[in-house]
Amino acid sequence: MSDIEEHRKKIEEITLEMIKLLKTRTDIAKQIGDAKANLGMTVTDEEREDALRTQVAKLCKEIDLDQSTASKFLNLLLNESVKVQSDGKQTHLSVFLKAKALEEEGKKIIHLEVGEPDFKPPEEVKTALAEVYDKGYGKYGPAKGITELREALADWGTASDKESPNYDTSRGSATIKENIMVCPGARFAVYLAITTLLNPGDEIIAIEPAWPAYKDCALNAGIKVRTIKTTLETEWEPSVDQIKNTINENTKMIVLNYPNNPTGKILPRKLLDSIVQTAKEHDLYILSDEIYEEYFSNYDWCSVSIYGYEKSIITMSFSKSYAMTGYRIGYAIAEPSIIDKMSKLQALSLTNVSEPIQYVALQALTQTRPSEKQKFADIVNSRLKALVKIAKDIGLEFVEPDGAMYLFAKTKYKDFDATKFSEKLLEYGVAIAPGEGFGDYKEFFRITATDETKLKEGMTILDTVLKETV
Ligand code: PMP
Repeated sequence: MSDIEEHRKKIEEITLEMIKLLKTRTDIAKQIGDAKANLGMTVTDEEREDALRTQVAKLCKEIDLDQSTASKFLNLLLNESVKVQSDGKQTHLSVFLKAKALEEEGKKIIHLEVGEPDFKPPEEVKTALAEVYDKGYGKYGPAKGITELREALADWGTASDKESPNYDTSRGSATIKENIMVCPGARFAVYLAITTLLNPGDEIIAIEPAWPAYKDCALNAGIKVRTIKTTLETEWEPSVDQIKNTINENTKMIVLNYPNNPTGKILPRKLLDSIVQTAKEHDLYILSDEIYEEYFSNYDWCSVSIYGYEKSIITMSFSKSYAMTGYRIGYAIAEPSIIDKMSKLQALSLTNVSEPIQYVALQALTQTRPSEKQKFADIVNSRLKALVKIAKDIGLEFVEPDGAMYLFAKTKYKDFDATKFSEKLLEYGVAIAPGEGFGDYKEFFRITATDETKLKEGMTILDTVLKETV
């Protein structure tokens, strides 16, 4: 046998042996997962992971192997464990699906788990839907979106000209259409950003509690998620030191989401300044999901775009501000080089966002009267206030939300299991989102600020079931 053949044979043997070891490793991880679930422990144990990382680094030195390659490989293995151990976690989506199934059986359900406005989009959307057929929109189009919409989005709220009706100090300096990509919802923009800008083995920082898709998109792409746990006691604020201590040579991105789902938190401006500064110092991407940007009151919210940081990606949507969740349209704002990368995968996977829907979104953006949009924000704010009042009256513990459309609360009872509670509550016809879907928050649950009558009815049932449970 020639030398090369012999080496190839060896490589094959080693690879097959590694696959067998992977199977053994995965089986053990599954067993650990079952044990953790029984004990009510969380899936990820970062201390344990770090201890393993230290051992790997030591071994690399001993055997003279490149540490960053080994660390990427380790991240892939750790992700596999997280995947097999995360099956069966209850999220707002799984509760929603169960609630829907019950409704099909004829049961009445009060939905306090879903994250969507229950009102209709502005009238201008209806007009646009009626006229779009004759307007001729409906062919294949550019992957980044139709020019008219991209231009309108670039201009909207980012005009640097103080005389412009679009001038808004909470947003950054002027953008051009090359900074914009239209996507089928902010969810897909988040997926594109994580999948196209990062590589397997890279790391991403998520601040929990968090909308679960950031973590799931990263896991799906073989990217390691480092979570920063924030607490009710510290008003859901991460510290800059926590972030600094989490950054290592593989860290490539930090995800921000303010106003936050599920807590409604908006970060104080100074803290946001320091986080952005830290990201800049470490050359990290900032993925800032700002889809609740119009749902807040009396608070100094500002977009991450004001920092003009070239590695920031802002995701926005028509889902909440225009109550257009089912239309599936949102967008990303970033440097053209980032937009180019993201649009390649969009072109590959879906060609372009439905043209008629892009036209409808354009009309919504340019024709809706500001007062109409303000009405939406006012409705959500007043519902949030009503929810806060009821929640206080029944003794829930929470930080008052600054914005968004949710309340993230716990009860005064120690070791309360909110997952079991939400299962029981569903039997009584009320759906809420268990906290474990947003991170290590088994005691918490999220309630959506919906229509006040439903809210009152739902919260009365919640209070009764709570008293029966404990
Ligand atoms: N980001 C956050 C924080 C969300 O809560 C949601 C939906 N609930 C989305 C993104 C998804 O938005 P879209 O409908 O635009 O995909």
